[in-house]
Amino acid sequence: MFFNKNIKWIAFIVIAYMLIALIWWSVLLYTKNAELYAANMQIMTELQGSNSGALESLTEKFKRQKGMIIGEGLTFGLMLVIGILLIIRSYNKELQTAQKENNFLLSITHELKSPIASIQLILDTFKKRTLKPTLFEELNDNALEETSRLNALVGNLLYANKLNYGQEYHFEVLDLSTELSDVVNHLKKSHQNIQFDIGIEEGIMANVDIDAIRIALNNLLENAIKYSSHSKVIGVDLHQNKTIELQIKDQGVGIPAEEKSKIFSKFYRVGNEDTRDTKGTGLGLYICKEIVEGHDGDIRVLDNKPKGSIFKITLPKYYG
Ligand code: ADP
Repeated sequence: MFFNKNIKWIAFIVIAYMLIALIWWSVLLYTKNAELYAANMQIMTELQGSNSGALESLTEKFKRQKGMIIGEGLTFGLMLVIGILLIIRSYNKELQTAQKENNFLLSITHELKSPIASIQLILDTFKKRTLKPTLFEELNDNALEETSRLNALVGNLLYANKLNYGQEYHFEVLDLSTELSDVVNHLKKSHQNIQFDIGIEEGIMANVDIDAIRIALNNLLENAIKYSSHSKVIGVDLHQNKTIELQIKDQGVGIPAEEKSKIFSKFYRVGNEDTRDTKGTGLGLYICKEIVEGHDGDIRVLDNKPKGSIFKITLPKYYG
């Protein structure tokens, strides 16, 4: 326990000791070598006089040994510093992963509990009270929305697990335009307050694993909705030139420049669990990126104007 708690300080003391010992031994060796040289010189001069070739070779040897001590000391010191830096880097990485996993566990518990609680409450209300049709309808829609969120969440968890073991894709050639329209139409039903601005070029064929692509599209569209608390206009564009280009645009909170490269990492969520008010697990974009890259495509995020984000996917064109 004591060791675990103070591991940083213990490591620091060990490293400092190693560096000081290295400097101390180098200086000691250097001084001893100089002393030995001076003593040998004195003996030689007394025995053979000052013009001897032996004196020159002694001086040469001394210089060589001096160079060796300095050279080896510096190399050893440099190796030690590089080793320490690498250890610190991997320690920090481990720390970040542990933090992300901790955040993930916190959010997943919340994510699972809250829809189950609200569905339970709605079912209880249905059982105990006779509701007016409008209220019944409203609560029923809420329950359906919560169920579909729960379903998507479990789907993401299972998919992320599959990715850990190397996902195999089942490619088939199909009409991506129709598939995208289907996904959007399905989402429209459970999100009636959202306005979709659709620009889908017809008849774009693609060689894709459609189940995987649907998961990616749903994640991007659900995110666009979730992170657009006020404005509820979502743009969906699909076109092709040299490649197939798909864009999901929202006018929501947007993503700060320094976060753009991080949001595709597993479990990463902007902000921290205490201050964040949107629900999520940090798995959605990680899954999207894996799927898109598994299709030899590319996914990136751009700023929308005047605000919000654009997620842009590029996929290889199908030439038939
Ligand atoms: P989750 O939404 O479950 O947190 P994701 O992997 O889908 O996880 O997204 C990672 C993070 O990227 C989110 O926590 C959020 O901060 C940010 N993000 C994703 N999509 C959007 C979006 N459309 N607008 C603003 N921020 C987004």
